[in-house]
Amino acid sequence: MLATGSRPVLPRLDGLDDADRLPPGVGFLRDLDDARAVTAALAAQQRIVVLGGGILGIEAALAAAEEGGRVTLVHSGRSPMERLLGEGARVLAAALTRAGITVVAGTSTGIRLTDGRFSALALEGGARVEGGALVLACGVRPRTELADGCDLATADGILVDHDLRALGTGGVWAIGDCAEVCCGVSTCAACTGGTAPPGLIGPGWQQADQLGLAFAAELAGLPVAAAGPPERRDAVLVLKARGVDAVTAGETDADPWTVAPGLAVAVWADPGHGRYAKMVTRDGVLTGLVCVGMPRTGAELVLLFERRSELPADRSSLLSLDSAEGVLAALPPGPDATLCRCAGVTRGTVQESVAGGCSSVPEVSAGTRAGTGCGGCHDDIRSVIEHHFAVAVAS
Ligand SMILES: Cc1cc2nc3c(=O)[nH]c(=O)nc-3n(C[C@H](O)[C@H](O)[C@H](O)COP(=O)(O)OP(=O)(O)OC[C@H]3O[C@@H](n4cnc5c(N)ncnc54)[C@H](O)[C@@H]3O)c2cc1C
Repeated sequence: MLATGSRPVLPRLDGLDDADRLPPGVGFLRDLDDARAVTAALAAQQRIVVLGGGILGIEAALAAAEEGGRVTLVHSGRSPMERLLGEGARVLAAALTRAGITVVAGTSTGIRLTDGRFSALALEGGARVEGGALVLACGVRPRTELADGCDLATADGILVDHDLRALGTGGVWAIGDCAEVCCGVSTCAACTGGTAPPGLIGPGWQQADQLGLAFAAELAGLPVAAAGPPERRDAVLVLKARGVDAVTAGETDADPWTVAPGLAVAVWADPGHGRYAKMVTRDGVLTGLVCVGMPRTGAELVLLFERRSELPADRSSLLSLDSAEGVLAALPPGPDATLCRCAGVTRGTVQESVAGGCSSVPEVSAGTRAGTGCGGCHDDIRSVIEHHFAVAVAS
């Protein structure tokens, strides 16, 4: 079974030609050593230059700024995360600036070294962004070289069918960031359109479960049912940072003025107060969302999106969740709401584990797997624990 993951993309820049031999001061952000290098640069009060305005680059820039670092985020296009957030990206860019990050739009062309160390990023047109450390956050690409060497079929990733078996093989499987589920049957709706691996931990874990069950059945001599087409679940992308909120999911590029049967797009923008929301519905059901600077509205929309719920006819009622009155009016999510998206664990499961004696995030994680992925739900787990004990003390 292949689970070779993905590797960071090395951008085409003068002075960078080998991902395994980056000049001093230049690095990716993949593992603890990479994080330690950034920490050392922060301790030396060097300016951190982050190249790449995707979610990882933005999270890295915000984390470095939160540590008191001087940070420049360089991105292509008009605003960071523009492809995913549309106009909401401009609101996010303003929030990044408020967080103390210098946001620079431009096409980078090369790096400059001083005494063999990174000292500046060169941009098209001759501008330079000076700094002591360069963090490359330009996306990831599935690692397929092992599969290529074995003559397995690859596209973006290693091509596998619904059973996660490499196409045209008997006993080779692939899962995780390296695997691209695309069965090759032209009439398969689940395998048309974008099938590149999403680069998120949740789908890989689901595939590991699926394959584990299939292997166990085979070892036990039980019949192994063929898996159906993979369920198309749009990823919910949440920016994990303190004080800057952005979330997006589903189809987000629909135009509010497009007239199409069943389609309705509502947009609300308040750049002056750092807020933006977009809701795309088909026959009333939420199929896409963007929410910046409105954490409660964003959380509610994600809930409705995951439940494939219909939105209220008056979309503006959702916006008030982030008003002072709305905070009081907002209903807490029920037990069926997903609390940990990486492991697919509901709030109810976490509540049960706390009621059963788990009183810390690591204990809940050990018992339920919630919080063992990206860690973005740790605060939610903590609040379930606190709520449980507050109720216990009060009663
Ligand atoms: C900084 C960072 C933040 C992230 N944040 C999030 C997040 O918030 N939410 C989220 O869902 N996802 C996040 N991800 C992505 C998530 O980590 C990946 O989707 C997940 O790790 C993929 O798991 P995997 O097992 O497929 O691959 P990996 O975890 O990449 O593991 C692949 C392993 O295979 C090894 N390998 C590769 N080739 C060979 C070979 N030829 N021989 C031997 N070993 C080999 C590699 O060394 C590696 O150990 C983040 C990733 C990074 C780097």
